[in-house]
Amino acid sequence: MVHWADYMAEKIIRERGDKEEYVVESGITPSGYVHIGNFREFFTAYIVGHALRDRGKKVHHIHMWDDYDRFRKVPKNVPQEWREHLTKPVSEVPDPWGCHGSYAEHFMAIFEEEVSRLGIEVDFLHAYELYKSGEYAEEVKLALQRRDEIKAVLDKYRERAKQPPLEENWQPVMVYCPHCRKEAEFRGWDGGWRVSYRCPHCGREGETDIREGNVKLRWRVDWPMRWAHFRVDFEPAGKDHLAAGSSYDTGKEIVERIFGWPAPMTLMYEFVGINGQKGKMSGSKGNVILLSDLYEVLEPGIIRFIYAKSRPNKELKIDLGLGLLNLYDEFDKVERIYFGLEEAKSEEEFEELRRTYELSMPDVPERLTAQAPFRFLVTLVQMPHLDEEGIIRILQEQGHVPGELSEEDVERIRLRIRLAKNWVEKYAPDDVKFSLLERPPEIDLQPEVREAMLEVAEWLEKNEKFSVDELNNVIFDAAKKRGIPSKKWFKALYNIFIGKDRGPRLAPFLASLDMDFVVKRLRMEA
Ligand SMILES: [Zn+2]
Repeated sequence: MVHWADYMAEKIIRERGDKEEYVVESGITPSGYVHIGNFREFFTAYIVGHALRDRGKKVHHIHMWDDYDRFRKVPKNVPQEWREHLTKPVSEVPDPWGCHGSYAEHFMAIFEEEVSRLGIEVDFLHAYELYKSGEYAEEVKLALQRRDEIKAVLDKYRERAKQPPLEENWQPVMVYCPHCRKEAEFRGWDGGWRVSYRCPHCGREGETDIREGNVKLRWRVDWPMRWAHFRVDFEPAGKDHLAAGSSYDTGKEIVERIFGWPAPMTLMYEFVGINGQKGKMSGSKGNVILLSDLYEVLEPGIIRFIYAKSRPNKELKIDLGLGLLNLYDEFDKVERIYFGLEEAKSEEEFEELRRTYELSMPDVPERLTAQAPFRFLVTLVQMPHLDEEGIIRILQEQGHVPGELSEEDVERIRLRIRLAKNWVEKYAPDDVKFSLLERPPEIDLQPEVREAMLEVAEWLEKNEKFSVDELNNVIFDAAKKRGIPSKKWFKALYNIFIGKDRGPRLAPFLASLDMDFVVKRLRMEA
């Protein structure tokens, strides 16, 4: 057993008992953009479920949208008028962008659409609907009945953390005003279904029936209640929820004592960041990266690969700069190893990579689908004379993809071409970008450099068919026999083609250009 998801799955079966079906849960409050850090919560639950399924188990993955939480603050990207909606449930705050039914819906819809492309089976549940339909009414009543015990648990942990105990009149619930929908004050409970309230916002007071869903459990009680309600076996949690005395610790005691269900097993996951970006990503700040951003430059399988290969307890840094090219190389290698086209360093490494690949792919293909090298595509997409067809032709000529391509091959190559274009536009550092000079530049070239250029030109004219390696040798030899240092030689060549001192790997680059053009340029003819 080499993958962390398998290890966790085995542990779940051992400790929760060998059952036919397991419930895994993830949960997110849609109070802002649901970003690639939140996705780790979701994916960790999913992949452990995947490992359980691979052991012949049924798995029910529920994703809880905590859309009945309060609207706590107006993020920068939202009009300040939205202050008037503070303390309403996020699912009842209007959508500032006007495209969805509510503020929360806006963020949930984007995420659900993004996730739908990853081949993940999941049940999206909404706290709002569950409360409003009375689904939790019994548990809310129970929490009010057992209020003193719950408070005692919370106070015990507060004392350990050297915090003052909760206020005497603390309640395990909060109340939404049935009229203006903002948070109201809890005034009392009749021991049955009725809770009385007073609203400081609209001034109304009265009673509300718990079954109408305006009485909501506070987070530290809501979480354990839900574990019991849905009989959850596993739920990952961010480190802020797992520190000593955190909501997991108190939740564990509350679910066992009050709601009668053993606390689910958990797994701590670390934050996700973008290379070069400082600080924690937050849905309400401007620094969020969404799955949609990743889709612009990465295949869905590679997005899953990023999360699948990293142990959750390690901080994950996603590199959208040059590091993205390495990521493609790494993934392509793992894929070739999976299909037996390349060897791993050891049997153990093979097992780990094989499993990681399996867990990464939305659908594991039966055979290797053509891998267009992303690094080379970055060069090709910058060639003004090449369209998608032209690029595919070059890839075939240079042996990067097979001469005969299936529909899936072509689809994948076309996708990568678009991803490479996006990457060049959005993330490529300047030294990776270039454009071909339309005319030869006016630069001084030493006689021996001119001679070497003419020799390469002549060779190209004589040889209609050649491999990139052959061209590479010719280029090197022409300089070597004249004693031209290779640094100087390459500098000259890059300058005559792209007007820069450095550029993409030269031989494949030249081989992908129109040969008449290359010959003319080497002769410095306009
Ligand atoms: Zn009110």
